[in-house]
Amino acid sequence: MSRASQLQQEMGLGPAWLPRDGWFERHPAQMQRQEMRAAAANAAEEIASPSVAAAAAAVNDSPSLDAAAVAGHATEPAAHPTPLPDAPIAETRIKLPRLEWPQLQREVADCQRCRLCETRTQTVFGRGNPQARWMLIGEAPGENEDKQGQPFVGRAGQLLDNMLAAAGLDREQDVYIANVLKCRPPGNRNPAPDEIAACNGYLLQQIHHIQPTLIVALGRFAAQTLLETADSIGRLRGKTHRYQGVPLVVSYHPAYLLRNQPDKAKAWQDLLLARKVFRQAAN
Ligand code: SF4
Repeated sequence: MSRASQLQQEMGLGPAWLPRDGWFERHPAQMQRQEMRAAAANAAEEIASPSVAAAAAAVNDSPSLDAAAVAGHATEPAAHPTPLPDAPIAETRIKLPRLEWPQLQREVADCQRCRLCETRTQTVFGRGNPQARWMLIGEAPGENEDKQGQPFVGRAGQLLDNMLAAAGLDREQDVYIANVLKCRPPGNRNPAPDEIAACNGYLLQQIHHIQPTLIVALGRFAAQTLLETADSIGRLRGKTHRYQGVPLVVSYHPAYLLRNQPDKAKAWQDLLLARKVFRQAAN
C-alpha cells in the first residue's frame, strides 16, 4: 500500500487518492527559478537597499522563465495571479513599516502591541518554507504552540501533517503555516477585535513576503476573520474566496477534526478543492 493510502487510512478516509503523474514532480523550471530567487535574495542582502521582495519581484518578472512551464507543482513558485511584491497592503488595520523577513520575525518576537504579550510564553511566528506556494492560516497558538513556539503541534498538528502528506505536500517544504494571532489568548479564549487589529499587520506582511498562490484558512475563526464575515464555516466551505488578491479556500481546523471524526471526509474534500484551485491559479 502506498504512503498516501496509508495516511488516508489513518485519517479514516477512503478510497485511496493517488496524485496524477507529473502533478507533484519536480520540474526543471522550478529548480531554475529557485536558483534565481536565491541569487536575487543574496544580491539584495549585499546591496542592502532594495528589499528581498523587490529582488524576488525581479525574478518573477524574468522573461527567461515560462510561467506555464512551472505551474502545477506544489513547491513551485509559479507566476502569482497578482503582482503582490509591489502591491499596496490594502487593509492594514494598524499600519507597520514594511519589514524584511528577519526584521519581521524579530518585531513579532518582541511585540507588545496588545495585552497578549503579558500572558504568552513566547510568540509563534510561523513554520515552513517562506517561498512555499501554499499558505495555511489558523486562529492563534494554543497551549502546546505557546510552549513550543511552533504552530500546529501535538495531535492536531500530526493530523494536519498526515492530510498534507496524503495530498503530496510536505509541511516543511511545500507550505507555510501561520496564525492570525501570534500570541496565545489565555485559556484559549477567542481573540478580541483589538488584538486582531493589533496583530493583523504581521500576517499581511507575511503574505506579502511569501506571495502564496493559494491560502487555506483553517477553522471558523480564521475564515471569518480573513473574510470579514459572520457566515458559518459550512457556508464558507466549498467555494473559492480571495484575500489580499490570493485565492482562499476554507476548511476545518485540525483540532476540530479530532473531536468530529466524520468531518474528516469533508476536510479531505476541501483539500481536493484547494489542490484544484491551486492548479488553476498557478496556470
Ligand atoms: S498577539 Fe500580535 S499584536 Fe498582540 S502582542 Fe502578540 S504579536 Fe503583538
